[in-house]
Amino acid sequence: MNFRIAVFPGSFDPVTIGHVNTVERSMELFDKIIIAIGQNSQKQYLFALHQRMKWLKEVFADNGMVEVETFEGLTVDFCKKKNAGFILRGLRNLNDFEYERTIASLNKSISPSIETVSLISLPEYSHISSTIVKELIRHKGKFDHLVPACVSRDALQA
Ligand code: ADP
Repeated sequence: MNFRIAVFPGSFDPVTIGHVNTVERSMELFDKIIIAIGQNSQKQYLFALHQRMKWLKEVFADNGMVEVETFEGLTVDFCKKKNAGFILRGLRNLNDFEYERTIASLNKSISPSIETVSLISLPEYSHISSTIVKELIRHKGKFDHLVPACVSRDALQA
């Protein structure tokens, strides 16, 4: 059987337990998962790229199937560079669905050999987003139950 490589692209600003759950569930489907932090000059991030990368590396340090990288440009081009046949995404709600459907169709039209695999988030994770975490951080709310331990340890100093 082919070695199945998936790219999980995103901002991870910061990584949440929802992202982690999506990666863990996808380990049943793939042989290797490359978490790819996109660098989009049009986007404003709360956390620096090196910080987002450091957290992801720490979260998956003991997991030999997961790698963490950064990329610029089109996700499908990064997939080709990495020999990845799959793009992994998560679906939380209808908004995600509409957005993900558009991106998945676009990617399929420009790179027919790459399949997008979207995992529907479990109910206990579907309300969690990096955006909500950032709002809680800004307004000094409790957020540590939504993020891995290393993020709650560092976020207020980062
Ligand atoms: P982007 O800027 O590309 O949306 P994110 O880091 O916000 O980057 O999300 C990356 C992927 O992870 C997206 O497919 C998103 O739907 C998914 N995701 C985010 N939060 C969750 C969650 N709580 N449960 C499952 N999937 C999630």
